[in-house]
Amino acid sequence: MYKLRAHHLLCMRLFVGEGYSDAFASNMQRCIDAFTNEPSLEFQLVPACDDICMHCPNLNSSYQCSQGDQNILHKDRLVAEILELKMLDSYSYSEIGDKILKLMKNAEFERCCSTCKWYEVGLCSFDNLVANLSAN
Ligand code: SF4
Ligand code: SF4
Repeated sequence: MYKLRAHHLLCMRLFVGEGYSDAFASNMQRCIDAFTNEPSLEFQLVPACDDICMHCPNLNSSYQCSQGDQNILHKDRLVAEILELKMLDSYSYSEIGDKILKLMKNAEFERCCSTCKWYEVGLCSFDNLVANLSAN
């Protein structure tokens, strides 16, 4: 079963092909394709490095994020709280899409994402998140 950390549930919906390396981007696309092709596919919510981190150059030898592990963990907790998710429980991708549309508003998105470099360069926004989810 796939393992995903909470803030990646937003990243996956906003991914446009950019990433930390080619290996990161192709793995991210593979994960997204797996869930898009089978929306009932379940993953386990994990409180640490996940199937996306595993191909990221920012993951250090202690399996922590060199971009600021505490900051990332805080973001995960925030997203899990907003989407009412419980660590180690299993969820389907489509269920998460419904929860994002229902529970995440612009203010919550800003709290989670406004300090991220991808937000700062304009690749992620609440409007795009809603548009991508509504299109599926
Ligand atoms: S702004 Fe950063 S954390 Fe938020 S969805 Fe985009 S890449 Fe993920
Ligand atoms: S290691 Fe850090 S930067 Fe890389 S995917 Fe995981 S949380 Fe994101």
